[in-house]
Amino acid sequence: MRVRPLIVAVPLLAGSLCLLSLPRATAQTSATVSAPSVVERATSPLSLWTSAQLAEPDDPARARAERFIRNLRRPDFSPPARTAPLVRPSAVTEALRGIIRRVHLAPGDRRVAITFDLCERAAHVTGYDARLVDALRQADAKATFFAGGKWMRSHPERAQQLMADSRFELGNHSWTHANMLTAPPDLRRRQVDWTAGEYELLREGLDRRLDARGLPSVARGPLTLFRLPYGRGDSGVAAFLNDLGYAVIQWDVVGETGRGDADAQAHAEAIVEAIRPGSIVLLHANAVPQGTAEVVRRLLPLLAARGYVTATVSELLAAGRPETVEDGYFTTPGDNRIYDEVFEDYGTGPRRR
Ligand SMILES: [Zn+2]
Repeated sequence: MRVRPLIVAVPLLAGSLCLLSLPRATAQTSATVSAPSVVERATSPLSLWTSAQLAEPDDPARARAERFIRNLRRPDFSPPARTAPLVRPSAVTEALRGIIRRVHLAPGDRRVAITFDLCERAAHVTGYDARLVDALRQADAKATFFAGGKWMRSHPERAQQLMADSRFELGNHSWTHANMLTAPPDLRRRQVDWTAGEYELLREGLDRRLDARGLPSVARGPLTLFRLPYGRGDSGVAAFLNDLGYAVIQWDVVGETGRGDADAQAHAEAIVEAIRPGSIVLLHANAVPQGTAEVVRRLLPLLAARGYVTATVSELLAAGRPETVEDGYFTTPGDNRIYDEVFEDYGTGPRRR
């Protein structure tokens, strides 16, 4: 069947990324999640939780409350308990410098990276879509989550569940979604370091919990991938992040249209049409925008049918040659410049009036 072109409305998409009005409550069906295998239960850090705790809450009100965005009465600019990482990775290698959009792989290698941002500005708490993560686990799919530092602090249990899952890796999505191109250097630095500090605190807390239960540690090193909020960044921003030890990861396939998922199947088919081996797909794992869970549930079998294999971004980077650009954008250069003006406090605060 013919599917409509994937991304026809970048401003609409971008609006849904971050304009973030209070979403409408919609009827949702509860996804089921299969119980971990006996082996996984016995040895995986994930066995710290029951299947029910990993899945979407049974209670519909709790499920909705977790999934949807909550605006704060007052923006939260407070720092994490640790404002700099104890361990900093060394500067990235020459091959990984710049703004990476996809990875050229060896012929026959059909790996792709599905990535999910967990954006959160100072003005709100953005939630978590457990149905989406359930779908990934059920399909045993790998994925990379770019988590805001404040998001991790707002959702510590969910952040630790992602850390505990060997299918997933985490990257840095700044503390409160700062526009790294317009932010002054000291704010840029805080946005990166506070997130790394929060990640370490949660990882240490998780390892203590695992140790208390006699389970193996998650054995994760420092964050080494960064995703630019609003996709905004240039070669100077990339160099700043590269020197701090981060590879800057964008996407070559924008996976969400910002229109909700009126036709999730067509939407998933459009994503598969746009994907190539080595592609990096941009999606979100909270209600920014809504509807992604159903798209993901339909996307995973389509990928398998085309012979694609999911991989983490780090696995792609290790296997091939990154394709880089000088400026960050959604689908065409300059299509995200509007974000220099939309939110207060360099993109971290409430929407400008
Ligand atoms: Zn974001």
